[in-house]
Amino acid sequence: MATKQSNATVSQRIEVGPELIKLRVVPDGWELPDFTPGQFATLGVPGTLPRIGTDLPEDRPPKDPEKLIARAYSIASSSRAKEYVEFYIGLVHTGALSPRLLGLKPGDRLWMSEKFKGMFTLQEVPEECNAVLIATGTGVAPYMSMIRTEIASGLKRRFAVFHGAYHSTDLGYHSELQTLDAVSPQFTYLPTLSHPHEELTPWNGHTGFVQKLWTDGALDEAWGGHPTPEDTHVFLCGHPLMIEEMTEILEGEGFVKHSKKEPGQIHAEQYFVKL
Ligand SMILES: Cc1cc2nc3c(=O)[nH]c(=O)nc-3n(C[C@H](O)[C@H](O)[C@H](O)COP(=O)(O)OP(=O)(O)OC[C@H]3O[C@@H](n4cnc5c(N)ncnc54)[C@H](O)[C@@H]3O)c2cc1C
Repeated sequence: MATKQSNATVSQRIEVGPELIKLRVVPDGWELPDFTPGQFATLGVPGTLPRIGTDLPEDRPPKDPEKLIARAYSIASSSRAKEYVEFYIGLVHTGALSPRLLGLKPGDRLWMSEKFKGMFTLQEVPEECNAVLIATGTGVAPYMSMIRTEIASGLKRRFAVFHGAYHSTDLGYHSELQTLDAVSPQFTYLPTLSHPHEELTPWNGHTGFVQKLWTDGALDEAWGGHPTPEDTHVFLCGHPLMIEEMTEILEGEGFVKHSKKEPGQIHAEQYFVKL
């Protein structure tokens, strides 16, 4: 499937579920750039590739099928991994790119941006502050990069990952995060399911949205108190409605949105716009 723009190769494809994959990508003879955990790359394949896993037509069919369809994807691998980049990709049934990426297998080629970008990083979090990382679905990807990178030198601040998903099979990093929670007193993992009644075996963990985990104080016992704007920065990644609702809840508790102009404790990365 080589196209003249392809510059990288899939080295590994892990099927988390029929609509969710981890893809490791290796550059073809060029050096991966340094990046800050939390940043994203742009991936692209031509519209001539088949769409996999959906019967629905695409919302935005490519005008020229030979042209690359390109979108942003957060990097899930550690910034210390120099041979490959890992992505965690979910199927959007009416999408143009994700159904084509879902069809890629080891050896297939694609285009990957040679620079990685984004401001959704821990760089502006003061050293003494804790970090609560809240995700829906594939929004956990940038947090995997942050945690996998930071753990190599020992977690210097407290981290918590809240991960909301429909089903337990959508918690693609469950084992890794559960193990980390068990071995590191600095790390807390709080997964929650919105459709627990559809589980094949009983789910005894948290249920409902990540917003409810926060308002129910699910972290407070582990941390010995509720996080405050003075001691914690909160990251929000994934679904726009979660980001909207969590921002409202946090602002009610005195947290402020972070921007270049006005430093604050709420950092957000929205994956798509709700129409
Ligand atoms: C900074 C950044 C990082 C991102 N990182 C990741 C990542 O790590 N993993 C990942 O899977 N995606 C990630 N995304 C989303 C990704 O860029 C694409 O938008 C997504 O894969 C859908 O692309 P598509 O071409 O299949 O759908 P499109 O053709 O772009 O969209 C089709 C329709 O679906 C809607 N839509 C798009 N995404 C979703 C969604 N997730 N759920 C419901 N509706 C949606 C669109 O609004 C549109 O109406 C990221 C986005 C941004 C901005």
